[in-house]
Amino acid sequence: MTTVAVLGATGSIGSQTVEVVRAEPDRFDVTALAAWSSVDQLIAQAQELRPDAVAIGEPDLFDRLKAEVPPNTEVLVGAAGFEELATRADVVVNGVVGFAGLGVTLAALSSGKRLALANKESLIAAGPLVRPLRSVPGAELIPVDSEHCAIHQCLRSDDLADSQRHLEKLLLTASGGPFRGRKAADLKNVTAEQALEHPTWSMGPKITIDSSTLMNKGLEVIEAHELFDVPYERIEVVVHPESVVHSMATFTDGTTIAQLSEPDMRLPIGYALAYPDRIGTPFGAIDWSQAKSLHFEPPDRQTFRCLDLAYTAGRIGGTAPAWMNGANEAAVDAFLSGAISWSGIASSIERALERHDGAPADSFEAVVRADRRGRECVRSQGTSRGSDV
Ligand code: MG
Repeated sequence: MTTVAVLGATGSIGSQTVEVVRAEPDRFDVTALAAWSSVDQLIAQAQELRPDAVAIGEPDLFDRLKAEVPPNTEVLVGAAGFEELATRADVVVNGVVGFAGLGVTLAALSSGKRLALANKESLIAAGPLVRPLRSVPGAELIPVDSEHCAIHQCLRSDDLADSQRHLEKLLLTASGGPFRGRKAADLKNVTAEQALEHPTWSMGPKITIDSSTLMNKGLEVIEAHELFDVPYERIEVVVHPESVVHSMATFTDGTTIAQLSEPDMRLPIGYALAYPDRIGTPFGAIDWSQAKSLHFEPPDRQTFRCLDLAYTAGRIGGTAPAWMNGANEAAVDAFLSGAISWSGIASSIERALERHDGAPADSFEAVVRADRRGRECVRSQGTSRGSDV
């Protein structure tokens, strides 16, 4: 039996983790659950799964939670409660959104646990802080992102421990988002509503906008660099509108290995929970008896400028990815509220990145500060400058 802590339990990754556990009750036992503020959903999960401990982020909700979870359930509170639970199970699923998730990542790896990581800040903003903790005995980082799960599987076809030796390049696939095939000139006046219609995955508004600008793919390039220690010049992006090939690796002999499945996040979650074994429930299995075609094309880097901005930040290193990620979040907020245009997102980030101060990512405070400064750089541009192309 593998014990599982689900942190960010009521969000998209957390609730799909619970579905995987439900499908394989003889294999996984949820021993800890944590949510920031969705107390009703957390209570329902605790009543069903009967964990040893639960945590709630908002201190005001402690009494409610304590009164309604099964007796003998330990109840913890705040970021410290999340971090404590991250040290208490065989596998820690980090589905926490934002910087609160970084503490969970650091706690899980420091205590030598397997971390099933869905929190983006942990690798994009704080890669240099996370890297050394991966050599703590017992610590293991398995990505819960469809592309990185795919690459992890592709690299297993070679020698994971020494995958650099035969690896030629990583190929991250991108759906291309709702504006694939369109040019910068016709995208000037697109609305938030149009950008929120993702063709293949159903996700929250922030990540859907990131998918429309290809920033999501840019952030994933940085994550791939951090996870697999592959230099940026050997990480490429391929547009693949069907989202069936989740990513690929090409080796020195010309072989390309790909991972294919229907889009279903329960597959990467189950992979991270069971690795190096595999679960027995086929989430996202492809029906090969049906006719299908798969298409691939290079990304349009002139129209989708965010992709290269992410490469630039990644190559600068230090706190530049944190700075850029903060700038992107502020720019997406500004777009969603109608303050800047869609093409203004890339322009705002570019100007913010030009102002990066070159600080190293040597502490939690340094990355949080860079994130904040990146956001401020976008907000200070206001609506008039931010909306030009
Ligand atoms: Mg992804």
